[in-house]
Amino acid sequence: MTDHFALVPAAGSGSRMGEPLPKQYLPLAGRPLLHHAIAALCQVPAVRRVYVVLAVDDGQWRRHDWTSLEPKLRPLFCGGASRAETVRNGLRAISGEVGALDWVLVHDAARPCLAAHHVERLLREVGEDDDGGILSVPVADTLKRADTESRIAATVPREGLWQAQTPQMFRYHTLRRALDRARDVTDESSAVEALGLRPKLVAADATNLKVTYPLDLRLAEWILANRER
Ligand code: C5P
Repeated sequence: MTDHFALVPAAGSGSRMGEPLPKQYLPLAGRPLLHHAIAALCQVPAVRRVYVVLAVDDGQWRRHDWTSLEPKLRPLFCGGASRAETVRNGLRAISGEVGALDWVLVHDAARPCLAAHHVERLLREVGEDDDGGILSVPVADTLKRADTESRIAATVPREGLWQAQTPQMFRYHTLRRALDRARDVTDESSAVEALGLRPKLVAADATNLKVTYPLDLRLAEWILANRER
């Protein structure tokens, strides 16, 4: 039997939010954003441990209370200069605890509205498929490609286009191999695709949004408040 582990890269600075505090520690519904991002992963019984990869000099983690998420939670202070490097460092750090065929679910610290049912659906639909899979949503809007003057250069057909979300779920050895070869990828799946694998697209929904700009934080707060009711 293979096990499931989650790995949450949380070593970014979140400069697009325009806040001095790193994005993962911004307050959201009374807790740091990161706490919400991790909570759903901790709730799913099949997920055995949740590793959070923090910056080497992270000074915030110890200031917050994580006890409600124990005993699955393991902070690792080995983040890198890019998201891919943070994940790579985290994978190296857990090599003694995770088997080659075990599954690793990589989830953005910046997606605080992940729900346990999203994770369960990913686990169910990927199952033991060696190519892995990712949560995603079909593109609903008509897409435009811009020229250098912000005028429309082309309309891109949306058929067959999906927005990639996280978690992205791959076997440990596949992820290690993919990320050791890839440079500058913005998600794990693109590194795995470059190996020639065809990860599954598992439909989630727009509530699993990524907080990038200040307005996203307000949306996330609304989603969490309405879910709890
Ligand atoms: O900045 P962005 O929203 O693209 O970051 C996506 C995720 O990658 C966040 O969880 C962020 O903390 C993480 N990250 C990281 N190490 C970096 C840069 C980003 O763990 N050096």
